[in-house]
Amino acid sequence: MKHLAPEFVRAFACAAGRCPDSCCRAGWQIVVDDETLEKYESLTGPDGDRVRKAVISGQEPMLRQDENQVCVLLDPDGLCHAQKCFGHEALCRVCREYPRFHREFGNLTEHGISLSCPTAFSLAVSQKPAWDEWEDEAPIVPNDLDPERYLLLREGRALALDLLNEESRPLWERLALVWELAERLQSGLDGQKRAGPLACKRLRSPIGQKAALRKMQHASRFAARMPGWERLFRGNAGSLAALAARFAGLEILSPEWREGLEALRGANGTRCAPLQEESLRAEKVYARYLWCSLYKYWLDAVDDGRLLPRVRRSFDMTLLGRAMDQLVPRNRSWLQRISREIEHCEENLEALLN
Ligand code: SF4
Repeated sequence: MKHLAPEFVRAFACAAGRCPDSCCRAGWQIVVDDETLEKYESLTGPDGDRVRKAVISGQEPMLRQDENQVCVLLDPDGLCHAQKCFGHEALCRVCREYPRFHREFGNLTEHGISLSCPTAFSLAVSQKPAWDEWEDEAPIVPNDLDPERYLLLREGRALALDLLNEESRPLWERLALVWELAERLQSGLDGQKRAGPLACKRLRSPIGQKAALRKMQHASRFAARMPGWERLFRGNAGSLAALAARFAGLEILSPEWREGLEALRGANGTRCAPLQEESLRAEKVYARYLWCSLYKYWLDAVDDGRLLPRVRRSFDMTLLGRAMDQLVPRNRSWLQRISREIEHCEENLEALLN
């Protein structure tokens, strides 16, 4: 089996008791797997009783939370009681894996870490993404991927991530090129056979890139033809209010997120600074966050052919984070909070696709 991961994945280590925003406080529904349940049956003493009582039995056994949506196994020192008393193996599969994720595509497994974890987020945005690749003897699982679609999407994603990684190019241009690429690939996925392979070829070449940027600038003169993300990057207050309303209509997990969105909506009519005025440091954070988001979700389009909605969702999350960082500032970026609110809730992910 071949494996692919961004380099920072290997460097991840849970901050445990020092975590500034523990996943045990996220309010997620944690399903306890059968193997762990079996282990819990054999735990002894009052600590074993406490661990067993923390599980709500049912068709899908879940970890119990207190009235503040905090896992009842979280001790005041910020550590998990089950892990502290019975070792790492006493964590259920979900807790053992988080924030790591893995996806299999034929003979390739991709690995990543979710940016909803503050430690993962800091790692991911503090360095320019690079690849880590290796092979092992793990058996290849048979799959029913459409090979043509898969290869096209892989080639397109490689180009999109390369473009985003061009840190000497203004972020506005990088976004415009990725958007143009996604639009053209979507035409290919929708049936215009030659559009997909041609898109990659064109947008890899400097001439094709120049033409695409010219086209985008021309479209920008006609607001109606301007993509929503671009209006937002130009600081358009109407687009920002619409985006904030969209996110406010989703399932909300934390009071902090609700208050943040309300504050943003309260700033109705306030423009955020255009992208051209963004600092280089901030540009890097937003580009790297978007890089991680596209790495994670781009290839999901292999199942249903919906690439552009996924790219739009990643753009929306990034741009909302940027707007909130400017208009509702706090001591760290809102991006990690957005991942936490959106990425572990299928309904929210799906709602943003539609
Ligand atoms: S959010 Fe990340 S760093 Fe914090 S406790 Fe969870 S896994 Fe560890």
